[in-house]
Amino acid sequence: MSSRWVPKWEIQKIEINNREESICYDTETKLYACPKCGPECLKGGIPRSSSYFFNKDDLINHFLAHKYLIWEKKKPKEIEEEEEEEEDEE
Ligand SMILES: [Zn+2]
Repeated sequence: MSSRWVPKWEIQKIEINNREESICYDTETKLYACPKCGPECLKGGIPRSSSYFFNKDDLINHFLAHKYLIWEKKKPKEIEEEEEEEEDEE
């Protein structure tokens, strides 16, 4: 429907706390997406609300925060991660 952004998700396996977790990586925008915030990405969809990260470490930190239930069941209020701002990668 929307043609603004067609992510090409690549499911990556990473190890977090000795557990293997699946995360989403968009090869188009080079962004990592949190599959807990936006599980749609695991199925190739565009998450309605999710958290995106420029690097894996940030995602891992965020992922760990889920474990500690920081966000628990609270209504996620649009956590906007300034997706537009490209950081120099080097
Ligand atoms: Zn998340």
